[in-house]
Amino acid sequence: MRADELEVTSDALRGKIIEAEASNRVKAEFLATMSHELRTPLNAIAGYTQLIDMGVRGPVTEAQHLDLSRITRSQRHLMGLINEILNFAKLEAGTVLVAETDVDVREILTGTKEMMAPQMDRKKLRFDVSVLDGLEGSPLAIRGDEDKIRQIVLNLLTNAQKFTPEGGSVEVGYDSDETSVSIRICDTGIGIAASELRNIFEPFVQVNPLLTRSTDGVGLGLAISRSLARAMGGDVVAESTLGSGSTFTLTLRRATVAAPAADA
Ligand code: ADP
Repeated sequence: MRADELEVTSDALRGKIIEAEASNRVKAEFLATMSHELRTPLNAIAGYTQLIDMGVRGPVTEAQHLDLSRITRSQRHLMGLINEILNFAKLEAGTVLVAETDVDVREILTGTKEMMAPQMDRKKLRFDVSVLDGLEGSPLAIRGDEDKIRQIVLNLLTNAQKFTPEGGSVEVGYDSDETSVSIRICDTGIGIAASELRNIFEPFVQVNPLLTRSTDGVGLGLAISRSLARAMGGDVVAESTLGSGSTFTLTLRRATVAAPAADA
């Protein structure tokens, strides 16, 4: 192709990219506005249900109390889904701010372990975070946003817990080199077929919607996690074998920790 033809092609391509980005932004903004509109009446449902349940409007029978708790449960479920959609829309619209700080890997793993342990216990899963011992005397830090890193790790751990049958195990590991740190979450769960593996990071993709719909989630967790990781200059990847388990790896930039000053 001649140089002038190449220039026309690349101009046309650039135009298409700008168009696609603009349309993406409009869609994401619409989604964000809609999510706000949906949350307002849901808050009202929660408020009035609570008011009735407290007996403010008159005595409440046991049967009515049960119905009200069902309304509250459904309201919370719907609110959770809408919040997830709103988070995703914000990410797509590019309105999420990502902090740049040094984040201690040990703190992330300790915090997420404490948050997840009760759920793992309830499902009789072996939850192994013994890698923490190795971080005792040698601090390891990631460059990124602490809340967002915790959100990603929690999401991967929640999935591992959701998709691993009772009696299985979930193990957390890490790797590091001079420039990056990887946090690995391995489970002995149901696994994902190779043909599905490349799609699971796409928004609203669930391999087995019947199974997942009975639990929480709409198929946005991995899409959000990967976008957040990429916004911090990293990535999330998955390996899996159907029927024997999956490994999700979050890789982020390693913080360059200053060498300790020599004793005078
Ligand atoms: P959600 O969990 O809300 O369904 P995600 O985006 O977090 O959405 O995950 C998308 C899909 O990827 C899940 O519905 C499930 O089919 C599959 N998946 C994710 N993590 C695992 C895992 N650890 N083991 C098996 N399948 C998984």
